[in-house]
Amino acid sequence: MNPLYPKVAVRAGNCCEYCRAPEEVFNFSFEVEHITPRSLGGTDADNNLALGCRACNLYKSNRVRGIDPNNGEDVRVFNPREDHWEEHFVVDAESATLAGITSTGRATVSCLEMNTTAQVKARRQWIRLGLFP
Ligand SMILES: [Zn+2]
Repeated sequence: MNPLYPKVAVRAGNCCEYCRAPEEVFNFSFEVEHITPRSLGGTDADNNLALGCRACNLYKSNRVRGIDPNNGEDVRVFNPREDHWEEHFVVDAESATLAGITSTGRATVSCLEMNTTAQVKARRQWIRLGLFP
């Protein structure tokens, strides 16, 4: 396990800082994600680390930018250290989907594939259990 995990996980409230997945219903610890990837010069500084679920960390990979599907604009993806989640995303509790309400939010939902069938099925259960959002 990443030695920085305990500190990052507590700060995140044990939720993925991108999709808000609740870690407590997973059988493996979430990952310490580099907001600016190491491959692009990112460091282990506190302001460059976020807690990410496996799906978000895998899909985010080394991205820092994405395309807003509404207008094709190339924008930065959500930065958990600089942005407020509620300003970029909304949850539709009926469909259990996430929607971006800004260019950054829409690009992040798209890049991180936050509404795959598996994501939506899991999110529906988190909502049912009162663990989401
Ligand atoms: Zn996630």
